[in-house]
Amino acid sequence: MNVVVCAKQIPDPAAPQSLDAQHNLDRTGKLILDEADTYGVEMALQLVDKAGGGEVTVVSMGSAQDVAGLRTALAMGAAKAVIVSDDSLRGTDALGTAKVLAAVVRRLQPDLVVAATESSDGYTGTTPVQLAELVGLPSITFAKSIEVNGSTVTVQRQTEAGFDEVTAPLPALVTVTAGVVEPRYASFKGIMAAKSKPVEVLSVADLGLEGQVGSAGARQVITEVVTADARQSGEKYVDDGDGAARVVAFLESIKVL
Ligand SMILES: Cc1cc2nc3c(=O)[nH]c(=O)nc-3n(C[C@H](O)[C@H](O)[C@H](O)COP(=O)(O)OP(=O)(O)OC[C@H]3O[C@@H](n4cnc5c(N)ncnc54)[C@H](O)[C@@H]3O)c2cc1C
Repeated sequence: MNVVVCAKQIPDPAAPQSLDAQHNLDRTGKLILDEADTYGVEMALQLVDKAGGGEVTVVSMGSAQDVAGLRTALAMGAAKAVIVSDDSLRGTDALGTAKVLAAVVRRLQPDLVVAATESSDGYTGTTPVQLAELVGLPSITFAKSIEVNGSTVTVQRQTEAGFDEVTAPLPALVTVTAGVVEPRYASFKGIMAAKSKPVEVLSVADLGLEGQVGSAGARQVITEVVTADARQSGEKYVDDGDGAARVVAFLESIKVL
């Protein structure tokens, strides 16, 4: 079984972040594999192992100047990576990103596409389902477990009340939530092997998407960026014997109970 994992390289969250004049995140520094996507990589590796054959291909859009994030996925066990990198992609919005990823998925024709529910830096949470729609794949979101049985995939899909079990024919796209699997640490052997695994760099012209992506084709613009409110300090209650009831009332008010 061949699985594509969509994985985003993001600026290291531990480093100071800056925005350019169009309010876009500066992506010229060190890039790492988005932690959210390590779950997809791990899930895909486990599914391929279980199927007894096939491989995991990591697909990304962004700068290919630094592919350390993709090498992390290769060190975990992915066989190869494809990154679409092009100056004309500057300003590409979420739909444009989906168009780019969809064009690569069409070339690779995998049995399954895995993505995270949302990324850690942009998190519109819309890219994977747009990708599925563009390729004509059924999509199942918020997976907490994935099982492939021959030509179908069965997913336990998290809901507010618990989970739904959803089955779709393959090929399909599934988004996974954080914490569904424990992403493996790359072994020393894996890190060394990753250095020689193929990372194919494609341009917009290679995909025939000239004029359809980049800022010209974008329907989203970031009009303003504001600093998030500082966290409020918590409220203190003195327990006069009604502490438990107050806790329950609070949890009900935020719909946890
Ligand atoms: C106004 C604007 C300008 C932008 N300018 C640029 C730019 O100059 N250069 C640039 O590279 N991007 C640019 N982007 C694209 C942006 O970085 C994201 O790739 C895109 O908006 C979707 O990301 P998200 O965080 O909302 O994805 P979400 O939908 O939250 O991501 C969910 C999952 O989809 C997959 N995914 C999302 N994005 C990618 C990706 N890029 N590669 C592989 N998998 C992915 C991952 O599995 C991810 O975990 C811009 C976006 C906007 C709105």
